[in-house]
Amino acid sequence: MSRNEELFARAQRVIPAGVNSPVRAFRSVGGTPRFFTRGEGAWLWDADGRRYIDYVGSWGPAILGHAHPTVVEAVRATALQGLSFGAPTEIEIELAETLIRRLPSLDLVRLVSSGTEATMSALRLARGHTGRSKIVKFEGCYHGHGDSLLVKAGSGALTFGQPSSAGVPPAIANETIVLPYNDLAAVERTFEAEGDAIACVIVEPVAGNMNLVMPKPGFLDGLRAVCDRHGAVLIFDEVMTGFRVDANSAQGLFGITPDLTTLGKVIGGGMPVAAFGGKRAIMEKIAPLGPVYQAGTLSGNPVAVAAGLATLAATGVPGFYDRLAKSTRALTDGLVAAAKRAGIPFCAQSLGGMFGLYFAAAVPDTYDAVMACDRERFNRFFHAMLDAGIYLAPSAYEAGFVSAAHGEAEIAATVAAADAAFSTL
Ligand SMILES: *Cc1c(COP(=O)(O)O)cnc(C)c1O
Repeated sequence: MSRNEELFARAQRVIPAGVNSPVRAFRSVGGTPRFFTRGEGAWLWDADGRRYIDYVGSWGPAILGHAHPTVVEAVRATALQGLSFGAPTEIEIELAETLIRRLPSLDLVRLVSSGTEATMSALRLARGHTGRSKIVKFEGCYHGHGDSLLVKAGSGALTFGQPSSAGVPPAIANETIVLPYNDLAAVERTFEAEGDAIACVIVEPVAGNMNLVMPKPGFLDGLRAVCDRHGAVLIFDEVMTGFRVDANSAQGLFGITPDLTTLGKVIGGGMPVAAFGGKRAIMEKIAPLGPVYQAGTLSGNPVAVAAGLATLAATGVPGFYDRLAKSTRALTDGLVAAAKRAGIPFCAQSLGGMFGLYFAAAVPDTYDAVMACDRERFNRFFHAMLDAGIYLAPSAYEAGFVSAAHGEAEIAATVAAADAAFSTL
């Protein structure tokens, strides 16, 4: 038995499925999850001492690569001063100022500890601000595991949403309307029918939780216009795309000003930091300024905030995102060329340091098209790459991430591994 297998067996005796977040269990691809002992730059080492080029990046936060020296030093120096006070610290102001400087849509921002907390709080705030209770989300977008958001489309266009998890009361799911991503007409129809009951639209401006799906031209602008027309709050969930696709996130790239933004992942640089922020008039509804309650014992934790601040500082240097986008494009171009050599129907796309791989003839722009990709072939590819020391997300429905530590050598090694992998599919 390998050390990974040993640890997995032991973990399953005390942790459900042996993991603390479901996708880590490898259920989608099969096999034994790797237990990692160390990460440095673009590389991870597992419990059997094998090393991998990492394209998961802790699901997004590791934009500088693992154990970046200035981030580690910021954490160390801050930890020496005490781990948590449950009282204000100067470093929280610095992070809030940084976020507001980089995202002009933010007048005020509050720090929390996970993306889930950020989206749950933003929804409550949108509801409290508008006095309305329905929300609109899109099929295939993931916004954390809050009850209102674990909802899938019901049958029929304007029917109530259905819980996508046991334990979500139908009464809560009934307040969520689930529409197809990139279908502006469906949003317009919904708002015409019940716009005065809808508090907000929450959307991933680039969808990264159903593989990678780009917004069609006009989709995000259309959401902005519909929300304006009906007095609904537009929430961009940039937990994944924030400081990942561009220095000013997806909202900067597409030139759209959401009312509220949720952030996470990169802004914590691998530590538990997330945030929600936006228009002053809305954010002033948050306690203790206003009637919408939200709180957190470890919110704005100084050690976590230090990691986030150091990470954002390193991404703020000129040319950072151009270089990151270029590496990511070199990867996807290389993979597409390798698949072509092997005659495998495959395509890929990227935005900033985020990419999507599709076993399909064309890049999908809907949830249904993503679901139609060849999942079995992805799973074989995943395992061939894993055996060759390339760690891709263990699911066909996840976006991938490249870090600033991925250099030409890592990209070339990945493409070489893919050449061999594609030829076995
Ligand atoms: C990861 C993610 C979340 C949830 O963040 P957690 O920190 O895992 O709770 C929410 N929204 C989006 C778009 C995400 O990618």
